[in-house]
Amino acid sequence: MSADSFIAEPFEFARRGGVLEAEVLAGSLVRLADQLRPTGAELAVKYRVSGERIGDKEFLVLQVRAEIVLGCQRCLGDVTFPVESRIRLLLVREGDALPDEDLAEDDFDPIHANRNLDVLALVEDELLLSLPFSPMHEDCSMSSGEQRQHSVSPFAVLGKLKRPV
Ligand SMILES: [Zn+2]
Repeated sequence: MSADSFIAEPFEFARRGGVLEAEVLAGSLVRLADQLRPTGAELAVKYRVSGERIGDKEFLVLQVRAEIVLGCQRCLGDVTFPVESRIRLLLVREGDALPDEDLAEDDFDPIHANRNLDVLALVEDELLLSLPFSPMHEDCSMSSGEQRQHSVSPFAVLGKLKRPV
């Protein structure tokens, strides 16, 4: 249990405006690791959590920044998705009901928080929500090489031009 990945007292952290900033390897996030390409597992996911108190409510602001490499569903090549997200989480005590979704303002998500809040689980949730369900290149033909667009390789054409008459 690393000090960078848990907040011992989340309500207290929010009240004093605590800040936690760290990074984790994408491949070490278990639920995400299944979807990663080998090239992406070593990439760092940067995250920052800051606490704030507004009125009688405690919030955490979570920022996640990463470049996640997934496999394209069409050509099976690597596709890189930049993730840059920022969410506000309303801390709700374990045992108290979460506010009704319809009544809640939509600039935050309520979560149940107790001691030793698992920050990496929040980071991983946010990444999984940000990534596409079936990743694909915007234009597969562009990234998977020219061979598919042109039946004749440009190098073959060059070869003909160079050949002495
Ligand atoms: Zn593709």
